[in-house]
Amino acid sequence: MKNSYTELSHKALMHGPLEALFCCIGDPVVGNPTQIMMEAAFESLLFPARYLTCTVTAPQVQAAIEGIKALGFAGANVTAPHKVAVIPFLDSLTESARLSGAVNCIIRQGDALVGDNTDGKGFLTSIELIRAVKNMDVLVIGAGGAARAIITELALHHASKITIANRTLSKAQDIIDRLAPHVKTEFSAVPLTENFTIGERFDLVVQATSVGLFAPDEGLDLVWEPKTNGERIAADVVFNPINTKFLAAAKKAGATTVDGLGMLVYQGAIAVTHWTGKDAEYSVMRNALEKAFTI
Ligand code: NDP
Repeated sequence: MKNSYTELSHKALMHGPLEALFCCIGDPVVGNPTQIMMEAAFESLLFPARYLTCTVTAPQVQAAIEGIKALGFAGANVTAPHKVAVIPFLDSLTESARLSGAVNCIIRQGDALVGDNTDGKGFLTSIELIRAVKNMDVLVIGAGGAARAIITELALHHASKITIANRTLSKAQDIIDRLAPHVKTEFSAVPLTENFTIGERFDLVVQATSVGLFAPDEGLDLVWEPKTNGERIAADVVFNPINTKFLAAAKKAGATTVDGLGMLVYQGAIAVTHWTGKDAEYSVMRNALEKAFTI
């Protein structure tokens, strides 16, 4: 008979090897759902591990990374506002982390800590289940950390054009200045104004602002030009609520919609694979989150 996850954890603790330790660091982390889906993933893989959610204030970021190393943590997630601040304290970065300038996943390789960005990769997976992003004309609304990771991955996967619409235009321009020398994608930055019109030409429209998070009745004022030639995909990064005002409007305008839970779960699943070498089960992780969000 197969041992349960708890039995394996206890066995590992009593007889070694020790359970693997993982954590999420950020501030605030109250309400951060990562632990729920990671523990569900470990359990389904019968991988003896503990996942802790830790509040780390800005002045403690360096000490926290040194602590992760000293205590032998096998990996970690980094959430707002430390995704940029952790970088100087890591030993190396993957291409996604280097180009996006942000780390959300730390992988231990021997004594070294490697920073990766799985946010963009998780987003890409959720879109490419429908269609490859190669040659797409994309509109990304927002220019914060999530947008930065998504835009980097879209460019690395050969989206032909990316337009970034943001309230603070300089932030959109910063993303372009950082990425443009390294990729072939054509970029432009436009101001996000009231009643912003989403042109017909876009194949993919990404809502990457924080508007609507924990606020089911809030959404940006957007006007959707009808698309008469081809399919349009609309994706929201907001994962709670799962069905946002943006997605409802996109659906009404005829788009195929992708919710933010897909990105959240896939970025977590990629991290689990980095850490355990095993394929995490998407459905197990998503079910755990959906259950948590309805409590
Ligand atoms: P940031 O704080 O880095 O960026 C916030 C973005 O939202 C900026 O572009 C900001 O514009 C814009 N914004 C905020 N309020 C308004 C408003 N009232 N009107 C117009 N624009 C506004 O946040 P993140 O990028 O880290 O996170 C954004 C969202 O993505 C959050 O909801 C977060 O939970 C979600 N997220 C989801 C993930 C997933 O896996 N699904 C992963 C990571 C994040 P400006 O620059 O002008 O301030």
